Amino acid sequence: MKVAVVGLGVAGLRTAMLLEEAGVEVSMFEARGRVGGRLYTIDEGRGVLYEAGGEWIDADHHRVLALLKHFGLEPLPRASWPGKVIHKGKEATEALLWNDALEDDLRVEAAARELCRNLEEPPWKNQHVRELDERTLEQFFREHTQSERGFWWVSAKYRSDEGDDPDRIGLLGWLTGYLHYLDRDGDVMSSYRVPGGFGSLCDRMLKGLKGESHFGKVLTRVRQDEGGVSLVFEGGEVRVDRVVLTLPPPALERIVFEPAIGVRKRCAIEACRMSRAIKICWQFKEAWWRDQGWGGAMSCDGPLQQTWDGSLGEAPVLSAYMCGKVAADWVQLGDPVRAGIYELSRLFPDAPRHFVRGWVHDWLNDPYAQGGFSHQPPGYVLEHMEHIAPPEGRVHFAGEHTALVTGFIEGAIESAERVTPEVLHEAPV
Ligand SMILES: Cc1cc2nc3c(=O)[nH]c(=O)nc-3n(C[C@H](O)[C@H](O)[C@H](O)COP(=O)(O)OP(=O)(O)OC[C@H]3O[C@@H](n4cnc5c(N)ncnc54)[C@H](O)[C@@H]3O)c2cc1C
Repeated sequence: MKVAVVGLGVAGLRTAMLLEEAGVEVSMFEARGRVGGRLYTIDEGRGVLYEAGGEWIDADHHRVLALLKHFGLEPLPRASWPGKVIHKGKEATEALLWNDALEDDLRVEAAARELCRNLEEPPWKNQHVRELDERTLEQFFREHTQSERGFWWVSAKYRSDEGDDPDRIGLLGWLTGYLHYLDRDGDVMSSYRVPGGFGSLCDRMLKGLKGESHFGKVLTRVRQDEGGVSLVFEGGEVRVDRVVLTLPPPALERIVFEPAIGVRKRCAIEACRMSRAIKICWQFKEAWWRDQGWGGAMSCDGPLQQTWDGSLGEAPVLSAYMCGKVAADWVQLGDPVRAGIYELSRLFPDAPRHFVRGWVHDWLNDPYAQGGFSHQPPGYVLEHMEHIAPPEGRVHFAGEHTALVTGFIEGAIESAERVTPEVLHEAPV
């Protein structure tokens, strides 16, 4: 059996690995000139190494950790400096939060736990709590917080996970993700990174594959008939028995399917939302934050939202991760890197003195992603979620948006594990 995998992000790479392990002849196609997709390690030379896309691994993301182990990569633990929290010019730390914010955080957590008790898996089975799917996360936070600072804190905390503002996130979708956090022990969030960056993992994955990989191949059309599937790329056509498409939803929307895919599938692809997430990364002469006894991790109520020490090489790099409306506005600025330095200088007046250069990574306007990662808007879970993953004849779907752990690298790998047996055994043709 000849199978094509289109899209060489981590979902496509893992799918190709698993199919080859099962003895399948695999060919691979990718629109960009590189592997990794939304995993993108930038090496600017002279020790400047950082992640422009996915970066952190939670301690219970066992699939990612197992994959690193398979390739002999030891995960890098997060530095244990306490993160700063800055609101209206006042400073606290994550470990020593203001009482009003902490109490609101605990109220939100307790209310979420209570709602999770009634949830079933998979998420779309929860027809009995339809009202939760119609509500937004913002409404839920408003209902369960009592102070303005507490509302800001829980919004900031969960915004980074969802990659967008809470008024865009459906409550049920968020809760079905939160459900996976209930068994967690201690601080599991963002525990590790990859030495040398995720680029080194993706390169190793590609190197281990036998099949041919083709770069600069933009898929435009998928034709299937009784005998197989024809894939039409800009500048060529390929014939295979089956195909696995790992493209993110906005890229899938642009593909012409012949015959047309089912209405439910089409609606699910269109309804799935991509988060508005960007990164700004600055190189500094000195790691001035370390000299101040601080690790660089901060959540603030200004536009920078969140920063951390992004250095994976010797050169000091501070990364800002911005989501939602702020991110969409920020990429419209003439010079987002300098504007970011200005914002930083308002909090840390010394910062500009050490500034060398910087980069903005605008995932919103990336032609092959059009956003950071998928999230579920109100109404999505019960109406659409179950239709996004199943195959359409010989055409299979993978990628983080088709997983139960949506949004994460872990989910992308989960989708590869789901789609492989589907291709091998279960798909009706
Ligand atoms: C700024 C940012 C921060 C993030 N932080 C984290 C984090 O800390 N932890 C975490 O777990 N996750 C994080 N993520 C999410 C994570 O990066 C993704 O969930 C994961 O990488 C998605 O993998 P994928 O293979 O499903 O999709 P992709 O990586 O998008 O792969 C799909 C591939 O398809 C290709 N493609 C698209 N259209 C076509 C076409 N027409 N023809 C051919 N090929 C095409 C794309 O170029 C791409 O290579 C972050 C993402 C971003 C952008």
